[in-house]
Amino acid sequence: MKDARKTVILGTGCAGLTAAIYAARANLQPLVIEGHEPGGQLSLTTLVENFPGFPDGVQGPELIDNMRKQAARFGAEFRMGHVSHADLSHNPFTLRLGADEIRSETLIIASGASARWLGLPSEQALIGHGVSSCATCDGFFFSGKEIAVIGGGDSAMEEALFLTRFATKVTILHRREQFRASKIMLERAQNHPKIQMMTNVVVEDVMDVEKKEVTALKLRHVMTDDTTIFPTSAMFLGIGHVPNAAMFGDQLDRDPDGYLRTRDYVFTKVPGVFACGDVQDRRYRQAITAAGSGCMAALEVEKFLEERGE
Ligand code: NAP
Repeated sequence: MKDARKTVILGTGCAGLTAAIYAARANLQPLVIEGHEPGGQLSLTTLVENFPGFPDGVQGPELIDNMRKQAARFGAEFRMGHVSHADLSHNPFTLRLGADEIRSETLIIASGASARWLGLPSEQALIGHGVSSCATCDGFFFSGKEIAVIGGGDSAMEEALFLTRFATKVTILHRREQFRASKIMLERAQNHPKIQMMTNVVVEDVMDVEKKEVTALKLRHVMTDDTTIFPTSAMFLGIGHVPNAAMFGDQLDRDPDGYLRTRDYVFTKVPGVFACGDVQDRRYRQAITAAGSGCMAALEVEKFLEERGE
């Protein structure tokens, strides 16, 4: 099936949905493509306390759901699928979505970032069997057990705090002495009676692949090189995210970590292609900044189409 659009938005996180609200209100009838992580990172989180307008906080999935409804109300159309190929060399651009080909005069890339893994073969083998990157999805399975959380940023603190609802003890394992987490999140974790911290350690292996369950982690102390076996029932990763931009290959500029490079906030090097949210923002990575850049991308799409006389 061939489909011709004025604008296509890739991604249904905070950036993509904000772009969808603006583009839909501008009567552009955007097609919004929802990938394998619908709703983006907010849909995997719990209470969001720093999104303006919610004095008591708001649940991440509820915030996303409301944005989605708001975009749909103005005519945004949603389609599930994975863009396997994108051709940005001519306008209209071509996107391949399963068997369908979608052509669009403009494109807003809001494909976000996905959880980073350590990359150990044993970790990969045990995903879904005690290894997870989503505390809100999988924490429940470890009720009454001891859990390890890897990382030293806000994600790790947030995961650890959430997991205290289920676990008897949560240990945060961090590779350095200093934490990257914000003061408020770090203090909350440090002051929690169920949370303990272990610094200067890296995970070398996850056991036990043969039993198809996590029983322990092999840890190496980075100062002494000593290794120890740390018994645990689960390992949750909170070590950051990797931008989802590989599908564009070298058609767009990326920095060494894979983030799309933009100028004037949301312009890529291809006229008519804009990027917003975590796929291009390695500095702020907040829900509110993603929403802000989604708004900018949609306004630039409007301007681009207007300048072409449409
Ligand atoms: P981050 O700030 O980049 O922290 C990632 C952490 O993982 C760092 O401590 C890093 O260690 C560690 N790490 C990275 N790769 C590792 C590896 N291969 N092995 C072991 N450790 C590794 O990422 P984030 O915590 O996901 O936060 C991202 C952004 O989202 C931040 O701006 C944060 O403020 C925001 N956020 C906010 C909230 C909130 O306010 N509630 C919640 C979650 C996230 P090093 O420190 O040694 O580099």
